[in-house]
Amino acid sequence: MPATAILLGTAQDGGLPQVRCRCAHCERARADPRRARRAACLGLVSADGRGFLVDATPDFPRQAEGIPSLDGILLTHAHLGHLAGLAFLGTEAMGARDMPVFCGPRLAEHLARHEPYASILAAGRILLREITPGVPVELAPGLSAEPVLVPHRAEWSETFAFRIRGPRRTLLWLPDIDRLTATSLRTFLRGVDLAFLDGTFWSADELPGRDIREIPHPFVTTTLDLLDRLSPRTAVSFIHLNHTNPLWNPRSAASAELRRRLDAAGLACAAGGPVAREGRRISL
Ligand SMILES: [Zn+2]
Ligand SMILES: [Zn+2]
Ligand SMILES: [Zn+2]
Repeated sequence: MPATAILLGTAQDGGLPQVRCRCAHCERARADPRRARRAACLGLVSADGRGFLVDATPDFPRQAEGIPSLDGILLTHAHLGHLAGLAFLGTEAMGARDMPVFCGPRLAEHLARHEPYASILAAGRILLREITPGVPVELAPGLSAEPVLVPHRAEWSETFAFRIRGPRRTLLWLPDIDRLTATSLRTFLRGVDLAFLDGTFWSADELPGRDIREIPHPFVTTTLDLLDRLSPRTAVSFIHLNHTNPLWNPRSAASAELRRRLDAAGLACAAGGPVAREGRRISL
């Protein structure tokens, strides 16, 4: 079996539906569970059958069932949708032993200082492996993950994207970033065949009454402008969509515009459509 990436979650930290939210997207996902989406999470399976998760989300128990074995967890940063699932490695749930957890030095410090992670660490349930930007972690023969530092609200930890390299293809997993420029996007996409980009918000219209400067994500419309300028050879799909994002509705004007603009820029989709299709498997 070739090395494989599996899209185990494609929504923003709170998932879809978002807790107690009565917006149309959340109500539709509640009425039809096929429309529900989990918090952004990438599963990785090496050719020799080892399994890894990128991020430990609140949906960790079900996402961990999506890979044949769990041999390590890579963490992007300390926010809810990326870290909270680590608590399931503790005594009350998995009771793991020496589970390798790959994260940056600030996040390692955060874990050591805050419960419940401090106790999980002290009990030897996880084994922290510090990662360095630009230095690939060899997960298994023919499967590596290179941490890429990205700007994102850094009150608790640094934030990474990961360039995942298999024998044939390289995938970029970038769920959270405050802003993108043509220069930074070009750098992120260098050598990347398939990119999964922060698609939290479609546009400013989605958040009436909020100051755009307070919203630390590039709008999908802005990222499309940059992609149009760069015309990379990378296939692109969006992940980490907030429950408010009109792209959750495939019949929305935003969905039509996204398809039209990707076509016009000559860009292919990385997984199942412009919005990454949850459950998709990609051979690397
Ligand atoms: Zn997030
Ligand atoms: Zn909602
Ligand atoms: Zn975040």
